[in-house]
Amino acid sequence: MPRILIIGGSFGGLGALKSIIKKAQNLTQQLDVTLVEPKLGILNILGIPKAVLDPEFAAESFVSFERANVYWDTIKLQEDMPFDTKKVLRSENGDKPHIGVAAEELKYNPNLKLHFVQGHVTELVNNIAKVKIGKLDKGRLPERYRPTKSAEEVDIPYDSVIIASGRTRNWPLDPLSSTVEELRKEMADSTAQIKNAKKTVIIGGGALGIELAGEIKHQFPEKEVVLVHPHATLPPEPLICDRFKQQVLEFLNNLGVEVLLNTRIKTEQADGVLVTTDGRVITSDLTFWCNYKKNNVDFLAKNYPNVFAPNGDILVTHQYEVKTDKGNVIGNVFAVGDLADLPLVKTAGWAYREGCQAGNNAVELVLNKDRGGYESVDKEYLEKGGMLLVVGMEQSICEDFLGQIFINDPEHLKMYEDYRLSSMFPTYGLTKEQ
Ligand SMILES: Cc1cc2nc3c(=O)[nH]c(=O)nc-3n(C[C@H](O)[C@H](O)[C@H](O)COP(=O)(O)OP(=O)(O)OC[C@H]3O[C@@H](n4cnc5c(N)ncnc54)[C@H](O)[C@@H]3O)c2cc1C
Repeated sequence: MPRILIIGGSFGGLGALKSIIKKAQNLTQQLDVTLVEPKLGILNILGIPKAVLDPEFAAESFVSFERANVYWDTIKLQEDMPFDTKKVLRSENGDKPHIGVAAEELKYNPNLKLHFVQGHVTELVNNIAKVKIGKLDKGRLPERYRPTKSAEEVDIPYDSVIIASGRTRNWPLDPLSSTVEELRKEMADSTAQIKNAKKTVIIGGGALGIELAGEIKHQFPEKEVVLVHPHATLPPEPLICDRFKQQVLEFLNNLGVEVLLNTRIKTEQADGVLVTTDGRVITSDLTFWCNYKKNNVDFLAKNYPNVFAPNGDILVTHQYEVKTDKGNVIGNVFAVGDLADLPLVKTAGWAYREGCQAGNNAVELVLNKDRGGYESVDKEYLEKGGMLLVVGMEQSICEDFLGQIFINDPEHLKMYEDYRLSSMFPTYGLTKEQ
């Protein structure tokens, strides 16, 4: 039976899953699809600047696969997971249509076998994925969150694989939790740290650093917040215009965030004191290293070292097939979302769209062995901007694909009251109610 593997169950991976289920509704051949993801649900990572200081908001932002209305033929979990498999095991749910990840009813076809594995891929070798049934070890993770037990390992063979494993950031900006209860505790931990700190230093003025600085200052105006950024303007996104960047700086100033531009942190002392390259000494009760992000691609790099752009993104064709730096296409390996080297702003929307298209292409490949039905990246959006930032809940700026700027648009501010949870999750057939 042809087998497709999806690595990562966030925006890109769920887009791929959706398009495969949709395409498979009338399948006459059998198809086997496995999703590997360490979390037991999808977290609206857009809301992380608020989630790290509001555990209840964080909990709302996580939709467990238990209530996602996608039905699996098999489910493999880590030990002792509070997850009611009966709710989503096909054997317990008859021929119910899939609704989650689709926002429409997709009818059950017994020819499609769906498998969920709660783990992370550690290597791709000879069309086999090595998978650890355990949590990912993320950047700057406090010791108490490091796994203590060694994880079980399994092999998953595939004919085609879709890589949608995105990026890792430093704790707590990329939470480790697999379930809503774990997340509530993890975010209570970060909330306590923020509340206890009189002065917080945020390093890196990308979207995350800007929104986090805005959130902290908005929630706790009495606290000192310093944002350190190595360039003259922020965010560093090259496809965004100067006017957008000037406005963001003004928003931060309005909130009382101290912004230090054109400087970097040279050293971080044991007592938390930070020394910059231009000789400033900054005391800090709490430091967020928002400048760190790493593509989750180690599992690919082991055996495919030459498929990376200089910035670490995976080289892909416009049909999302991975290719080498010499241009050789690895036809059965697709990559989408944040880690794909495409000239698009990295957004959840693009990750989802790319995932849908790569899902289509993987099915065409394994069932029809034909690239004729492949879908391609939407070329008219390549090299275009498109970004929306909220700086402290009451200030927003958006640059659309046409380069038009919208400042404090009431619709945008409304949408970002919950960081798009209410508008985004219905795309996946999910609701925010627990
Ligand atoms: C603060 C912030 C604000 C943002 N605001 C917006 C916004 O307003 N609008 C917008 O559209 N976008 C926004 N984005 C960007 C958006 O969140 C990303 O573009 C999107 O999450 C990318 O989706 P993805 O599926 O490629 O990767 P990710 O969302 O990073 O998901 C990757 C998944 O893969 C899993 N994984 C990782 N490694 C492995 C492995 N080895 N094996 C198996 N699974 C693995 C992870 O657990 C994760 O679930 C924002 C991002 C941040 C950080």
